Amino acid sequence: MKTIFEKDTNTDGITFIDEEISVDFINEKFLRDTSCNLPNVSELEVLRHYKELSDRNFCIEKGFYPLGSCTMKYNPKVNELLSSLDEFTNLHPGQADDDCQGALELMYKLQEALKKITGMDAITLQPAAGAHGELTGMMIIKKYFEVKGEHRKKVIVPDSAHGTNPASAALCGFEIVSVKSNDKGQVDVEDLKSIIDSDVAAIMMTNPNTLGIFEENVLEISKIMHENGSLLYYDGANFNAIMGYTNPKLMGFDVVHLNLHKTFATPHGGGGPGAGPVGVVDNLKDFLPVPVVDFDGRKYYRKYDLQHSIGNVRDFYGSFGVLIKAYAYILMMGENLKDASENAVLNANYLKEKLKKYYQLPYDLPCMHEFVLSGEDLKHKYGISTLNIAKALMDENTHPPTVYFPLIVHEAMMIEPTESETKARMDEFVDVMVKIYNEAVKNPENLISAPHNTPVKRVDETLAARHPDLSFNE
Ligand SMILES: *Cc1c(COP(=O)(O)O)cnc(C)c1O
Repeated sequence: MKTIFEKDTNTDGITFIDEEISVDFINEKFLRDTSCNLPNVSELEVLRHYKELSDRNFCIEKGFYPLGSCTMKYNPKVNELLSSLDEFTNLHPGQADDDCQGALELMYKLQEALKKITGMDAITLQPAAGAHGELTGMMIIKKYFEVKGEHRKKVIVPDSAHGTNPASAALCGFEIVSVKSNDKGQVDVEDLKSIIDSDVAAIMMTNPNTLGIFEENVLEISKIMHENGSLLYYDGANFNAIMGYTNPKLMGFDVVHLNLHKTFATPHGGGGPGAGPVGVVDNLKDFLPVPVVDFDGRKYYRKYDLQHSIGNVRDFYGSFGVLIKAYAYILMMGENLKDASENAVLNANYLKEKLKKYYQLPYDLPCMHEFVLSGEDLKHKYGISTLNIAKALMDENTHPPTVYFPLIVHEAMMIEPTESETKARMDEFVDVMVKIYNEAVKNPENLISAPHNTPVKRVDETLAARHPDLSFNE
């Protein structure tokens, strides 16, 4: 035995404790020479510390959160309760099928529900996020052509696409070819025709797209792609706009990902965990990651023998706790999933009509679940950028919209209220946006120095990326 902490009093007057522990089994080089400065504080002080930290955070329970493309809808609290049941949390992922029939049944039934909702023929629950679903989908597409003996090198991505689309395809070794948007904010079919050749493996599309606009020509596009022997990938991040009204199968897609943490109300933000299940049409079934969960009429089991499987893309079976919450949400909603989409679209159109009197609306069409404004006019006339508007919103207990995306709209503000918001809350948001607009016109200095009330003001947004400091030293 060796005493490793000496009695010590630091300048804050916090007393440290005498400790004696056995250190015989710890390598000498890991032992500290000095006290480790553990504060001896009361439970109340600890609670105050963590409460203060949590108060600095913004969340949907605190205010309006119109972060476009992220679908920050209400996450029902009962789902937290269900996913923390001992019967789920005490399971070990290595347990035999016979010992975890309930968990396997839940996964199987979630797969079945997602098949029905998307129209796809088979689902994997493994991917941990939307981007991971994209990567999984593109790996499937790559292997599909390899097995066919075709070496197609290109993937087409619209210029309005989310950055993860080209990134996922590039990670799989594909060359990215960009297709232009037309004046209605949709894929330009003529441009697509001029790009397509026998080297194209797939197109990745989001529908409604990142402008919140439904791609009217999707059936024609799917015909063009399939006649070329190419596949269609559906980025399902915007699925909240169409649930129960249509599905990617009807639109002609072959591979689909969903973001359970967007559309299916599992918590989102702060880095996860998320879940990005991938669905495929019948002829791609055998390429899914293993295991998939199956049912033989008597019991549920993990199935590993898929002929062309791309392998395992995540340890064990994906974010199981997240899957529980999404399944509970789907059961709770039932047929009303359709109403969720209807209200999400109605809310977005309401806000769009109110706000377009103040901010530019570059694509003035009926929108789906979100729409994109431009702050270009304000910038040119008064020197107020979209970034200034976003920062000013933080002072108003409102999360900023997604800004500077999609890239084809200058000074973009992408607004998605979701179905969770009441008209009263949306009217408050309109009032705040009008107030900021008036301030931009009359008192722009105040916006340039915003935010004034947040714990962190403006940060250098590129420093961490350019000069990352990954050490643990203070
Ligand atoms: C959110 C999003 C993604 C990526 O999903 P993650 O779950 O964040 O990885 C991809 N495409 C679009 C259009 C998105 O909005």
